[in-house]
Amino acid sequence: MSANRITIAVDGYSSCGKSTLARALAQALDYLYIDTGAMYRAVTLYTLEQGIDPHDWNAVASLLPSIRIRFESAAGGPITLLNDRRVEDRIRNMDVSRNVSPIATIPAVRRKMVEQQREMGRAAGVVLDGRDIGTVVFPNAPVKLFLTADLEERVCRRQKQLEESGKEITALEIRRNLLERDYIDSTRSDSPLRKAHDAILIDNTNLTPIEQLAVCLAIVKARI
Ligand code: C5P
Repeated sequence: MSANRITIAVDGYSSCGKSTLARALAQALDYLYIDTGAMYRAVTLYTLEQGIDPHDWNAVASLLPSIRIRFESAAGGPITLLNDRRVEDRIRNMDVSRNVSPIATIPAVRRKMVEQQREMGRAAGVVLDGRDIGTVVFPNAPVKLFLTADLEERVCRRQKQLEESGKEITALEIRRNLLERDYIDSTRSDSPLRKAHDAILIDNTNLTPIEQLAVCLAIVKARI
């Protein structure tokens, strides 16, 4: 059985339902789920808390030795810990969302995150979601999924998700943030967001999470 446990890479644009899918796949297959976006968000939170300018690459890089990120399992999914502090909810706030993409362009930050992601993902049976999983972190992953969805649908989903955790953000601000992050993520020179040539493109605009899971489970089962 463990010989059949594979690495599944889920990449795509912001708020396309990557983490919903990755978490559901991990649960259905009894795999480990790694939310790599949470790691870049945790670095961003720490940077902001230290009063460092997210665009100052050297200053941000100098913080890296003081940052320890890990995940704790919980009933609702993994919880992100930044230097042993639970920051799962805090890293979803708009101040972090606004600054995370500039931080994720910094090569020293990416090096450290990718190294840790490869280490955590070494175990058999893992689903990782992010922007560069199928292209850089695990380019040999046997299953690569690349998600996309219409912008307005993504804005709607994100707003609902934020509202559910008590965060009232206007659709306008969410739309601006998604577009800005997609732009920075796709145009950065280190590990830009792009579909790996062997990734399967899934447009989930008209799919419910359950339908999307069924489609992706069928893809995974055909490979194992
Ligand atoms: O997945 P999430 O939307 O939480 O990711 C937040 C940000 O972290 C992305 O917009 C991107 O800038 C960065 N990121 C990245 N590489 C990853 C995962 C996330 O650059 N593998």
